[in-house]
Amino acid sequence: MQVYFDNAATTKLSARARESMLRVSDDIFGNPSSLHAFGQAASSELQRARETVARCLNAAPREIYFTSGGTEADNQAIFTCAEIGAAKGKKHIVSTAIEHHAVLHCLEQLEKERGFRITLLPVDESGVIKLQDLEAAVCDETCLVTVMFANNEIGTIQPVEAVGRFCRGKKIPFHCDAVQAVGHVPVDVKALSIDYLSLSGHKFHGPKGVGALYARQGMPLRSLLLGGAQERNRRAGTENLPAIAGMAAALEEAVSELGEVGPRLTGYREKLINGLLNVQRSHLNGDRARRLPGNVNFCFEGLEGESLLLLLDHRGVAASSGSACTSGSLDPSHVLLALGRPHEIAHGSLRLTLSRYTTQEEVDYTLAVIPAVVDYLRDISPVWERIMREEQEKAQ
Ligand code: PLP
Repeated sequence: MQVYFDNAATTKLSARARESMLRVSDDIFGNPSSLHAFGQAASSELQRARETVARCLNAAPREIYFTSGGTEADNQAIFTCAEIGAAKGKKHIVSTAIEHHAVLHCLEQLEKERGFRITLLPVDESGVIKLQDLEAAVCDETCLVTVMFANNEIGTIQPVEAVGRFCRGKKIPFHCDAVQAVGHVPVDVKALSIDYLSLSGHKFHGPKGVGALYARQGMPLRSLLLGGAQERNRRAGTENLPAIAGMAAALEEAVSELGEVGPRLTGYREKLINGLLNVQRSHLNGDRARRLPGNVNFCFEGLEGESLLLLLDHRGVAASSGSACTSGSLDPSHVLLALGRPHEIAHGSLRLTLSRYTTQEEVDYTLAVIPAVVDYLRDISPVWERIMREEQEKAQ
């Protein structure tokens, strides 16, 4: 059996998104900036995609800017607010310790090269920030609060509505990296008082290399790229129309199916969590309830996540030991460390992320395979031997 449980890294293209991409690639190949009929057909297609994405977020079409993905959307929102802030002498940004590197690396650069002060809010042991910490962190110099909607490793959902309300009250721009949330849980930018929001097509069964930035009407937006006047002068370069149309189709589909898919995935998630909690010395990472429907993340003491991944892959289960962007490095995940997991335990992490194509059979198969693989690895692990010895000594 082949099971794909790495949907937080990327998802399979949906049939509807693929159809849309093929139709646009074949039939609507004009440049949306051209004045002739071919160009105008492309321009209308682009506008339709913008309207679709806007509708899915409860935004207005003119508030949507297409980008090359979540990373670019995050960079554009952060560097815009940093520029505007610096011009007013406001060089303080508040974020969280568990953001994606697309946010954290922007903040590090602003700190090192532009003299910004960055406050990263801590999270509690379940991965949630405290509103009091945010209230204590902001000051007159704060030019941006950037807090993710849902974490890519542990799936924890932040109190976005409260953060938005607080920032709006203080008139501080609020950017939300919602790359893992859009298409998975309801996201309403107006109800949540969000000023900037990033999303990415390949996280909800759309194509890779395309995303969008929502910027509330009236909020400034600086272009990262210089060139043509595309995206109302906010994002130069000919639009990737097939990908944009595919993303819009995928998002519409994902949002229309949320009511059915959410509860089904939550059921699978709970089954996996209950099953894996039965494994000796296993720890669930992230909040049990405030989490994405399809996210399961565990630490297993006495083993290396990478070995677990390789053996699971061998048995047909594709999982992850953290975010795809940090895998390949043996440093434990900054997210698990922020939860307070000791290095040794954080090393033994496993992330399973489901999708609307996940079946009951896949869940059952995975639940049968993981405990066996964990046992096998522990049998040959000197760390596990030490843990067991210490346990026996304590019991005596
Ligand atoms: N933000 C989060 C929370 C993510 O999970 C990801 C991708 O994993 C990104 C940003 C980057 O998105 P993209 O791959 O579209 O650049």
